[in-house]
Amino acid sequence: MLSYQHAFHAGNLADLQKHALLAELLSYLTKKDKPLTYIETHAGRGLYDLTSDEAVKTGEAAQGIGAHAGIFRPDHPYLAALEAVRREHGPNAYPGSPLIASKLLRPNDKIHLAELHPQEHQALTLALRAPNVTLHRQDGFALAHSLCPPEPRRGVLLVDPPYELKQDYVEIPKFFRQINKKWNVGVLALWYPILSSAAHVPMLAALTENFPDALCHEIRFPPVREKHRMIGSGMFVVNPPWGLSEAASALTDRLRRAKAAR
Ligand code: SAM
Repeated sequence: MLSYQHAFHAGNLADLQKHALLAELLSYLTKKDKPLTYIETHAGRGLYDLTSDEAVKTGEAAQGIGAHAGIFRPDHPYLAALEAVRREHGPNAYPGSPLIASKLLRPNDKIHLAELHPQEHQALTLALRAPNVTLHRQDGFALAHSLCPPEPRRGVLLVDPPYELKQDYVEIPKFFRQINKKWNVGVLALWYPILSSAAHVPMLAALTENFPDALCHEIRFPPVREKHRMIGSGMFVVNPPWGLSEAASALTDRLRRAKAAR
């Protein structure tokens, strides 16, 4: 049974890292005219309200985008997507990854989004309506297997599971190998939590062994509340576009300077 709801966590520091790197990645790829395919295995509801009971209860967004929007250069594509969504939905709106992608991609790019939870899927259908978007209420791993290699061939797969199923840590390296075999030009991006239990470490070791040239970017932060196990977050990107590594280092520097200034 699915119980994870991203509304409690939207806009936190982990989202900020994931969404800032996703936005940079898409902005590099869209420098070329050729169309892209964007596939997301775990889409969430697409649009969040940072004044919702869920967001206020955890206070995670306040510590994330609420405290850090100022660290980005003014022309950062993450800010461009955030501002575009806030112009449409008000100053407390926060875009999930599907909405960030739809703001940065072009009408001739194709977007496929999987979301299994009935309510989250329903919310996503309301948040994202465009002729180039296809929503799938199905398992995201199965969707990726059925679509890859996609047409257009250039593109990105974002994998952002809630890790409620511990088996995901075991299956993801195999999944990445299989998708890369079918779609060797695809940019495959995985978000993962850094937990005090170090549950992610064997998964990351297996991924790194298979993809030694991948980009691995991690940030660390204090637990959002006492006994909370997440102490950081990571992005693992196979076939990263040129420039993404520098963008990731710049993000680390800016977060470090913001922390030092407190
Ligand atoms: N990627 C989103 C973002 O950054 O805005 C957040 C996604 S959230 C971490 C994970 C989502 O995956 C949840 O909404 C959950 O309902 C959904 N989910 C869980 N298992 C799934 C599966 N096997 N296939 C598709 N969606 C799934």
